[in-house]
Amino acid sequence: MDTVPSIAPRDVDLERYDIVLDVRPYLGGVLIPGSAHAPLDDLLADPEAYAPDRRAHVLLVCDIGMRSAFAADHLRKAGYDSVASLEGGIDFWKREGLPTASAGSLTGPQLERYDRHIKLPGIGLEGQRGLLEASVAVVGAGGLGVPVISYLAAAGVGSLTVIDGDVVEISNLQRQPIFTSADIGVEKVSAVALYIASLNPEVNVRTHATTLTEENADDLFDGVDLVIDATDSFEARYAISDAGQRLGVPVVTGAVYRWEGQVTTLLPGGPCYRCIFPDPPDAGVVLDCELTGVLGSVVGTVGTLQATEAVNLITGTGTSLAGRLVMYDGRAARFDEVRVGPRNDCVGCGPYRSDGT
Ligand SMILES: [Zn+2]
Repeated sequence: MDTVPSIAPRDVDLERYDIVLDVRPYLGGVLIPGSAHAPLDDLLADPEAYAPDRRAHVLLVCDIGMRSAFAADHLRKAGYDSVASLEGGIDFWKREGLPTASAGSLTGPQLERYDRHIKLPGIGLEGQRGLLEASVAVVGAGGLGVPVISYLAAAGVGSLTVIDGDVVEISNLQRQPIFTSADIGVEKVSAVALYIASLNPEVNVRTHATTLTEENADDLFDGVDLVIDATDSFEARYAISDAGQRLGVPVVTGAVYRWEGQVTTLLPGGPCYRCIFPDPPDAGVVLDCELTGVLGSVVGTVGTLQATEAVNLITGTGTSLAGRLVMYDGRAARFDEVRVGPRNDCVGCGPYRSDGT
């Protein structure tokens, strides 16, 4: 039985091959210039879709040379008589310092930076492109906003609008770990802009050192695809939810109280924040964390849930939190969830429902 030739990267003369097929299921890292993506299962099912001429010289590539050897053997048996598998795959190719290219609109450095996303089913190259093109507003650069900002910037969200009128205080450092002691007294949005620039210079950051209100919300959210409500007041949450309904923009809202937190998504048409909480609590019933205390890591958990939800919504992955209020109890290490639906007479989302209910 003849074996399929494996060829070492340094011995490859790309000019010799008519077709270079990358058989990885999801493209990660970099590619060989001129290669086409032929996921192994698809290639085996229909080789002619990728290599119509069985006499063509075909080079097959994968991560480490295993899948490509398997594919080469299969193609040989299917009548392709000049097929080779790249020994050691793209790993060896890179180690030899041979030329590489990017796939689609992602550059080589982007393929490297977002490699772990690109390998994830449900995100992949398409999802990463979606993240790179997304524009997200984060209201509040506090305990919730900090993990949201850091994960979304790291994830490559193309444009981040950060709205917060505060300066960094020493008491913030217990739960907002992107700020340092040197930032005390500095506008939060300025410190955030520097942080994002050093983490991921590709992210376009817009900052507003102001407090969001009913009056300025529409201007601040102009052109964004998604809003993250990381505020700590009922007034702001109503204003954000109402603006989301008016503008047709989804809002991922989070809140924390001592050891407990909650998170949900408010899609245009409801349920909105007013459906879930029609009236603000009486003054003094819910105190803010300045008075009651809050565990830093619990805020981090809830903010991180918001960041994950944002990625899911942008990439169209998973099941959205819309209609579900997820509650987290950090002391009991427990998650619970309640279903929430739109209220018939809701003034927040009622006017924006397509069915007119
Ligand atoms: Zn509503």
